[in-house]
Amino acid sequence: RLELQHLSKSFGPTDVLADISLSVQPGEFVSILGPSGAGKSTILQLLTGASTPDAGQMLHDGQPLSPTQHRFAFMPQGDALMPWRRIIDNTTLGLEVQGLRREAARARVAPLFAEFGLAGFEDHYPAQLSGGMRQRAALLRTVVQQRPMLLLDEPFGALDALTRAQMQRWLAGMWTRHRWTVLLITHDVREAVLLSDRIYVLSARPARVAQEFQVPIDHPRQGAGSPGLAAIE
Ligand code: ATP
Ligand code: MG
Repeated sequence: RLELQHLSKSFGPTDVLADISLSVQPGEFVSILGPSGAGKSTILQLLTGASTPDAGQMLHDGQPLSPTQHRFAFMPQGDALMPWRRIIDNTTLGLEVQGLRREAARARVAPLFAEFGLAGFEDHYPAQLSGGMRQRAALLRTVVQQRPMLLLDEPFGALDALTRAQMQRWLAGMWTRHRWTVLLITHDVREAVLLSDRIYVLSARPARVAQEFQVPIDHPRQGAGSPGLAAIE
C-alpha cells in the first residue's frame, strides 16, 4: 500500500502542492484528475525522486518510501523517448538495466510491437514516428518492465480517439489479467471513470485533494463485456 500524507511542495515562491494526501492499494487502479498546472506531474516527480517534498511523507507498506530503491514503472508526460536510440533499443533499455540480455529483452518486447501497432518500426528512430506512435512506444517501454506499480502521466494524450479507446481497452485488460497497481494521471474525466477504482480530483494551484470518488459500477475489471468498456468502443 502506497500512502502520501500531507505532502507540500513549492518551487521558489510558487506553492504547487498544499497538504496532499492520497493512497493506492495493491491491485487498485487510481486516477488523478485536475486542471493543467495544478501539480499532477509534480506528485509523480516526488514519487520517483526527481524532487523532494517540503513537508509530509511518502510511505510504502508503512515504511518510508525510498524513491531511488522503489522501482516504479514510470511513463513521464510527453513520450520521453531517447531520440538517438532506435525504437527497439528505447523499449529494451529498461529491461537490459534490470539485467536481461539483449536477446531476451527483444524477445519480451516483440509481441507488444504487434499489439501496439508498431510492428515494422523497431529500427526507426523516434523522430520517424508520429506523436501517437511515440506515445505507444513509450507505454510499451513502461509496461514491459513488469514492475509492481505503474505511474502513467497522460499516457494517451497524443492519441486519436480510436487508438485511445483501443489503448484504454488494452490497459484495462492487462490490469485485470495481471492485477497491476496503477496510478494514472489524466485530463480526461471519461477515461478516469471508465478505468479507475477511485479518482482523486485536485483543485487548481496550489493543489489540494478537492474530491475523492469511488467508481461504483460499469467496471472494466468485470471483464471485456462490461458496459463501461462497451461505451468506449
Ligand atoms: P499539466 O496538466 O499541464 O501537465 P500538471 O498538473 O501536471 O499540469 P505540474 O507539471 O505538476 O502540473 O506543474 C505544476 C506547477 O509547478 C507549474 O506551475 C509548474 O510551472 C511548476 N513546476 C513544476 N515542476 C517545476 C520545477 N522543476 N521547477 C519550477 N517549477 C516547477
Ligand atoms: Mg502534467
